[in-house]
Amino acid sequence: MIDLHSHTTHSDGTCSPAELIAEACRVGVRTLAITDHDTFSGYDEALAHARNRGVELLCGIELSTKLEGQSVHLLGYFLNVEGLEGLRAWVLEMQASRRERNVRLVERLQALGLDITLQEAQAIGRGMTGRPHFARILVEKGYVKTVQQAFDDYLAESAPGYVDRYEPQFTDAVRRIREAGGIASMAHPVRFKGDLAAVLRALRDAGLNALEAYHSDHSQSDRETFLGLAATHGMVVTGGSDFHGTVKPGISLGTGRGGNVRVPEDLVDRLRLI
Ligand code: AMP
Ligand code: FE
Ligand code: FE
Ligand code: ZN
Repeated sequence: MIDLHSHTTHSDGTCSPAELIAEACRVGVRTLAITDHDTFSGYDEALAHARNRGVELLCGIELSTKLEGQSVHLLGYFLNVEGLEGLRAWVLEMQASRRERNVRLVERLQALGLDITLQEAQAIGRGMTGRPHFARILVEKGYVKTVQQAFDDYLAESAPGYVDRYEPQFTDAVRRIREAGGIASMAHPVRFKGDLAAVLRALRDAGLNALEAYHSDHSQSDRETFLGLAATHGMVVTGGSDFHGTVKPGISLGTGRGGNVRVPEDLVDRLRLI
């Protein structure tokens, strides 16, 4: 089994890198990409564990970007990890923008009457503390029942607690990934609110060379749509569960929601050809 979309405790997942590798072994994922948000440190830490356990680990990342005013996620895959230095430095800048935002975010949440501190969120999020960690604190304190409700009521872009932060333009992030020798794939394109078919040619011309066709949030018809769009535009496809551990309990590594993700066994071989 192949899974090219997963998160560790280095971003907003609940499995440590070692635990994620163990889970891959348990469920039969032989080729795994760690795609933590805006960091390579989960991949770095997992590498030795993967070698020991015989899991083929691919280097990946999921970047938060802006496209047509929306927050859109972009996956980068590095089948050859040489040449990543520049991108690693740039990713550290992204982390700094999140830390600076977190200070303003916690002030806003406190102004809304919520008893929450930055230290509480950082205790679980550490160096990559972000909104999902604030959401978990709001659940623990009983303000909301679920992480999703924390987003809906407080943290989502349309909610009263939202505080903006610097995010790169989608096409700038695509260019950075390609310059580092990576494959740039739009993550879970079903979440893009707009006419993807209308903008995809321009995105491809800007360097986007893949779409994530297989994903836990995709219905069969979504998957067919994105496979078709990729074929029409001469792009490859990627796929994975987007496993986050117990914060997204319905999603299993390798197979997604109730087995709705099944990444073809030859997919990584096709990525190697481009
Ligand atoms: P941050 O980078 O700290 O702003 O947090 C962004 C992360 O929060 C995303 O990667 C998602 O995992 C999560 N997220 C963002 N918006 C929502 C939403 N509306 N509902 C649920 N989770 C969200
Ligand atoms: Fe996430
Ligand atoms: Fe995502
Ligand atoms: Zn993800």
